[in-house]
Amino acid sequence: MALIVQKFGGSSVADAESIKRVAKRIVETRRAGNDVVVAVSAMGDTTDELIDLALEVTPMPDPREMDMLLTTGERISMALLAMSIKSLGHEARSYTGSQAGMITDGQHGAARIVDVTPVRVREALDDGAIAIVAGFQGFNRDSRDITTLGRGGSDTTAVALAAALDAEVCEIFTDVDGVFTADPRIVPRARKIDRVTSEEMLELAAAGAKVLYIRAVEYARRHGVTLHVRSSFNNNVGTLVADPPEGEQMEEPIITGVAHDLSEAKITVVGVPDVPGKAAEIFTIVAKTGANIDMIVQNVSAAATGRTDISFTLPKTDGQRVLTALTAERGAVGFENLQYDDQIGKLSVVGAGMRTNAGVSAQLFTALFEAGINIEMISTSEIRISVVTRADTLAQATRVIHTAFGLDGGSDARVHGGTGR
Ligand code: ASP
Ligand code: MG
Repeated sequence: MALIVQKFGGSSVADAESIKRVAKRIVETRRAGNDVVVAVSAMGDTTDELIDLALEVTPMPDPREMDMLLTTGERISMALLAMSIKSLGHEARSYTGSQAGMITDGQHGAARIVDVTPVRVREALDDGAIAIVAGFQGFNRDSRDITTLGRGGSDTTAVALAAALDAEVCEIFTDVDGVFTADPRIVPRARKIDRVTSEEMLELAAAGAKVLYIRAVEYARRHGVTLHVRSSFNNNVGTLVADPPEGEQMEEPIITGVAHDLSEAKITVVGVPDVPGKAAEIFTIVAKTGANIDMIVQNVSAAATGRTDISFTLPKTDGQRVLTALTAERGAVGFENLQYDDQIGKLSVVGAGMRTNAGVSAQLFTALFEAGINIEMISTSEIRISVVTRADTLAQATRVIHTAFGLDGGSDARVHGGTGR
């Protein structure tokens, strides 16, 4: 008997009808002879609504109480789903994160899983029941408090359960058909990818592809969990995120996908004295704010002034915090001023085949040049090239690059209006 973990996102359980549809699907998997463990998100926009409600009560909700509040969302969906399954004549039991043994550190709102002890989940399976686990939540042993894993954390719950239970596959059900070569809402000719390596998926997620959360992909990669991203609205096969068996080589496409990201801003620290230690000072200040920086570019210093500019990108949501922190240390560091630009867009091409193929950057830059799109920053990894452009040219740039690398499909992708979240 195979063990399958299935994760259903908020859009898949948005109302009673959807819950009944999902329940049927789970029971079908069980009747096909598999053990089934389900991780479920809160219904629809419940989490956002609870956050809004908290902010109406106080502008600075207490983190512990916030987690108490937000975890109720998944508690609703898990119980309704279990009831619905039982009404179909199959045994099901729902568990909160702490009942399911999702042990985390104590960081409210962004807790990390440190241990998974799914004793009760196993007992349920041994009794022939389907186990439903509330996504996105855990329990800290030191404080004995309930925690949440950060937005989109149900993906991570599912993957962690799959790893702990040694599941055959972790199916991530969402409102799109799988992972696409680009966001179909921007690139109508985007195609569904049949198979992608965990390394490529990690780069795509980091580059802004929204279909899977990066922490879940990281966890899956580390524990060798095979992911199957598929739609909860049809029975089509989706995208397998899996690595080829040891020693087996797959012929890799040079470019697997194009990701775009409008969530970042650029800070330029102008007139930094070009002496050792200044970059360290600046990025220590930035690090203390907890901001996650992405690209960094340092210009050649002007010989006349002995000063240089350092630019970096970071999530817009961290922008003000970092500006405030840097401004406070301006005298100490000795830079001239700061520029803030939140009208940037980032385009990334990802593909494991880049390792063994020359000329990918040349092809990328040429295509952008021919489309009249200016590049402001560039960064690369072994299997990714990212460029920063003006925000308002990003959609066009993404389409141009998708075409240039031969990724366009024969017909327009079917879009269900979902966000992939
Ligand atoms: N309900 C949580 C959120 O909306 C967790 C999840 O959906 O994965 O972020
Ligand atoms: Mg959600």
